Amino acid sequence: MKFSGGCLCGEIEFEISAPFSEFTHCYCKRCRKATGAGRSSVLIAPSSQLRWIRGASKIKRWDLPTASSFATSFCPECGSPLPRLTRDGEAAVVPAGSLDSDLPLSPECHENFASKANWVCLDETRLTVYDTDFGGRPESAD
Ligand SMILES: [Zn+2]
Ligand SMILES: [Zn+2]
Repeated sequence: MKFSGGCLCGEIEFEISAPFSEFTHCYCKRCRKATGAGRSSVLIAPSSQLRWIRGASKIKRWDLPTASSFATSFCPECGSPLPRLTRDGEAAVVPAGSLDSDLPLSPECHENFASKANWVCLDETRLTVYDTDFGGRPESAD
């Protein structure tokens, strides 16, 4: 089963095949800085299951020098987070939000929850729910 993804500007596209070894939300400070969000949501799969469709040579990667494995990978044009390999090259770390495909599974755990930002809450049922009107452009509907 294959899932396709890419960056916001469309310069970089990839495919990742199931099965995945992990699907987690991580709340650590590194992930918050790297995503600009309260948590990162990532899928992990053997690196052999990641295939670049276009733009792979344009990708920028930054390895956090003080970490044993943390890195970011992104499109230099639009800044979107993209899949990266672990430093040993064995696994692909795929930001779930970079996928265009629906997934037949959901995250299994909240990782590093103790270091979450104080505004993170798991019970979001009190939040107002609404959808943004992107001006009726069909490409923005999803
Ligand atoms: Zn891009
Ligand atoms: Zn993290």
